[in-house]
Amino acid sequence: MSTAAIDVSALTKRYARITALDAIDLVVGQGEFFGLLGPNGAGKTTLISIIAGLTRATSGRVRVMGHDVADDYRSARRSLGVVPQELVFDPFFTVREMLRIQSGYFGLTHNDAWIDEIMANLDLVGKAEANMRTLSGGMKRRVLVAQALVHRPPVIVLDEPTAGVDVELRRGLWHFIERLNRDGHTIVLTTHYLEEAQQMCSRIAMLKAGRIVALESTRDLLRRIGGIQVAIRLRGALPPKLRDQVIEEEPERVVLRLSHPRDVGAALQACRDFGSDVEDLEVGPADLEDVFLRVMSENPARSLA
Ligand code: ATP
Repeated sequence: MSTAAIDVSALTKRYARITALDAIDLVVGQGEFFGLLGPNGAGKTTLISIIAGLTRATSGRVRVMGHDVADDYRSARRSLGVVPQELVFDPFFTVREMLRIQSGYFGLTHNDAWIDEIMANLDLVGKAEANMRTLSGGMKRRVLVAQALVHRPPVIVLDEPTAGVDVELRRGLWHFIERLNRDGHTIVLTTHYLEEAQQMCSRIAMLKAGRIVALESTRDLLRRIGGIQVAIRLRGALPPKLRDQVIEEEPERVVLRLSHPRDVGAALQACRDFGSDVEDLEVGPADLEDVFLRVMSENPARSLA
């Protein structure tokens, strides 16, 4: 078996009164496009900053491409490109200078050809000589992505890369990240845009209050937990026995979540038996947002002390 891109074992992080990560085990294989999802405060950023060697774990260990992030920090760090959530820059450098400085951290002195290629791919060429302070938030985020890539790391971790980025920029960014993944880079991503995660990630971990509460391929998550959605236009009331399955409700239209297509017939029959007419019906797969809400509601937050 090849070395895992990221191997997290029994990882715990405690702050004074909070257990931000509670004995997490997680293996991300090389070449995966992996999503790390969870509500605010679930522990995603803490996990990423331990993987990046920026925060020390309380216990447990993390390896990046086989290198322990604490004992073999330099090799682990070389294998990793991190796009942080927060936009922190020295405002007086130009984009090109920033990327050269970052290359210097990794001992790369003749890196201009690659810097040019990254800038071209991220549509930053026109801003190469612009000072960081003059860039818009979306452009700054592109520079963060560029910075993470200067040393051609095999593993790329992106913490909310599209926060505050407009639709067009977002599409361009995804296009590029997808290409990096096709070229063999492992991608680990956190995002609150579940639609994006559904589209991009082949496997997903859901975190809640420092614990992994779901870890599966995106397809299996959608199928196993999501089931199907049935939108029914109804003349009359919804039978009480279908109440538990309601996801959305408007006057005369209700969306139900059913486990399996074979349950549709029984749901329609229940409406008819109740004296309500089904005027229209639309059946479709559940989306990741439904799955996420369901997983979160089925796993109540535990006491974290
Ligand atoms: P978000 O989606 O809002 O970015 P997150 O999933 O990344 O959230 P973390 O930032 O990892 O969550 O935070 C996990 C928990 O650890 C939270 O309860 C947070 O308040 C706490 N925490 C994070 N950093 C510190 C710190 N330096 N000191 C104390 N508590 C912290």
